[in-house]
Amino acid sequence: MPDDDYDDDRDDETRRPARRRRGPRNNTDVPCPECGARSVRPGPWPWYLGTIGAMVCRAVICEECGHEYDERKPHAHLPTRKRNLAIVINLLGFVGIVSVFVLLGVWIYFTMGRR
Ligand SMILES: [Zn+2]
Repeated sequence: MPDDDYDDDRDDETRRPARRRRGPRNNTDVPCPECGARSVRPGPWPWYLGTIGAMVCRAVICEECGHEYDERKPHAHLPTRKRNLAIVINLLGFVGIVSVFVLLGVWIYFTMGRR
């Protein structure tokens, strides 16, 4: 079998499309509102905000100055946003539990009433 063109594939490395010249330290498109740095790490995310909270808010911490902000709304006051989220999520959970009990009560009422 002719394997002559085998060596031609060796320079594939150089033909690769140029990578974006961004170091790992520039890892966000939303610069820090305090110092303008684009290097962040994920901020603390309380468990009670869970995935619902993560849909509307993304907490990050600036690696340069330590400022904690929301990547989706960098100029919003993050503690306030977190508190509002917690209230909304707790309200939703509360309403959910109450409606389950109400439905259960209605169901019991109707099953009992038929006898
Ligand atoms: Zn910063």
